[in-house]
Amino acid sequence: MAVKYESVIGLEIHAELNTKTKMFCQCLNDPNERHPNINICPICMGHPGTLPVINRDAVEKVIMTGLALHGEIPEFSQFDRKNYFYPDLPKGYQISQYKYPLVNGGYLEILISGSRTSDGSPTSEMKRIRITRIHLEEDAGRLSHDKSGGASLVDFNRAGVPLMELVTEPDFRTADEVKKFGEELQKIVRYIGASDADMEKGQMRIEVNISLREIADQRGNSLRESAMKISPRNSALELGTKVEIKNINSFKFAADAVEYETKRQSEILDGGGKIVQETRGWNESRNESFSQRSKEEAHDYRYFPEPDLPPLKISRDWVDKLQARIPELPAEKIGRFIKEFGIERDIAEILSREKTLADYYEAVISELKEYDEETPEKPVRNLEKLAASVMTGDFLRILRKQAATPSDLNINPENFAELTLYLAEDKISNLAAKRVLEEMVHSGNDPSDIINRLNLWQISDTADLENIARHIISENPKTVEDYRGGKMASVQFLIGQVMKESRGKANPKIVQEIIKKLLNSHN
Ligand code: ADP
Ligand code: MG
Ligand code: ZN
Repeated sequence: MAVKYESVIGLEIHAELNTKTKMFCQCLNDPNERHPNINICPICMGHPGTLPVINRDAVEKVIMTGLALHGEIPEFSQFDRKNYFYPDLPKGYQISQYKYPLVNGGYLEILISGSRTSDGSPTSEMKRIRITRIHLEEDAGRLSHDKSGGASLVDFNRAGVPLMELVTEPDFRTADEVKKFGEELQKIVRYIGASDADMEKGQMRIEVNISLREIADQRGNSLRESAMKISPRNSALELGTKVEIKNINSFKFAADAVEYETKRQSEILDGGGKIVQETRGWNESRNESFSQRSKEEAHDYRYFPEPDLPPLKISRDWVDKLQARIPELPAEKIGRFIKEFGIERDIAEILSREKTLADYYEAVISELKEYDEETPEKPVRNLEKLAASVMTGDFLRILRKQAATPSDLNINPENFAELTLYLAEDKISNLAAKRVLEEMVHSGNDPSDIINRLNLWQISDTADLENIARHIISENPKTVEDYRGGKMASVQFLIGQVMKESRGKANPKIVQEIIKKLLNSHN
């Protein structure tokens, strides 16, 4: 029988913090600075005789991330020197944290697709991924290699930028779990305002550690497990040799790397080979990993406490204040939106992906509530659902196209609510709403002004519509005959003609009623 393996995966995720200045000096932390070596000074360049000063904002952002992930904040923390040489590291060492990180433990729950129910529909379940630690360090500079064989260039603008490193326990089993975790973490650091976490800009980077181990056969015992009955103490710790894949800059590539590496390692194991513990790189265009360096070439960083910085004493009072600054996080928000507004999980998920959009949605809802209280006769349609659907549809499409947040656009929540109401009351069609929305973005005008100007009010006046319908029926005697001969589809044709005659403004529901009534009364 062929041996089956499961993948065991742990992640190391780096995120650049979005502080105003660098980690230990007053240089600007500006990821958009295009001119190289502008934001540098003797401190981040490691000149002799200079002294670093800890950036309080960076420390706070790491602690807040730790609190959001249910981690423990110790009362004592310390920076260490990690010594190595590389051209992007001007000091010859990196200030990092080794023994006493800012955050110990914690976890993040992700929603993964679970087993199928008896009727075959997919279910989802929560999985808890444990976090080992989160620490604070500084980023290195950026190298660019001249492909024509000339020189390599270095830009130190990024050297000394605050960098948070989060390490997880080896709790992942699938590529999907890795992707979900990355996306969830990205949302959380953005909500907290700790990092912009733009992977394309390298503000968030993932390292995937992966090994394989045998899993149970049909009878439920793995080879390893039966061996472990002799020494059950090791059972929970039994892990295969791991490979670390570096420089992954998208969640999709992280998932691809897991798939690729699972296949590569299982082929080696099936062939009777052994996995070499090594660091591999990820080639995204070839969709494969490649060997970079083996364990034998691993560095000895000779960590020691950073002599130029005082240890950190973290008071409980400070931690409490930071806890109070953490906003409602995406997972909670999704749950509340579903409960409070009766919207679908998928829609709630899209709305809360970015805090700015979620906040905007709530602002619109509160405008609609005001209206709801003032209006005794309520429209049939659920306003919260309708607003959510317009927002995650046409509105989001416009935001994406312009790479904008809601406040960048000209539409205030009051106007958005007004547009939703016209739709709910069938005063405009879906098609017209789309057009009005685009006009609103463009001009910032009130929806009613735009609808007036473009003459987009839907005709719901029965008398008007009946006139048009009579006219259409008298002009299409053949179709009417077909209908009476039993061809029901003729109704659709006649409705289409009325819509055309009204230049799309007729209320299709009312038109249908009228056409049917007229056809049947002629009988
Ligand atoms: P290293 O010292 O090589 O950096 P660590 O013990 O610090 O290794 O772990 C780094 C990451 O690798 C963590 O995310 C951890 O969960 C994961 N990891 C450790 N051992 C394994 C293994 N055997 N298989 C898969 N992942 C592992
Ligand atoms: Mg490591
Ligand atoms: Zn500096």
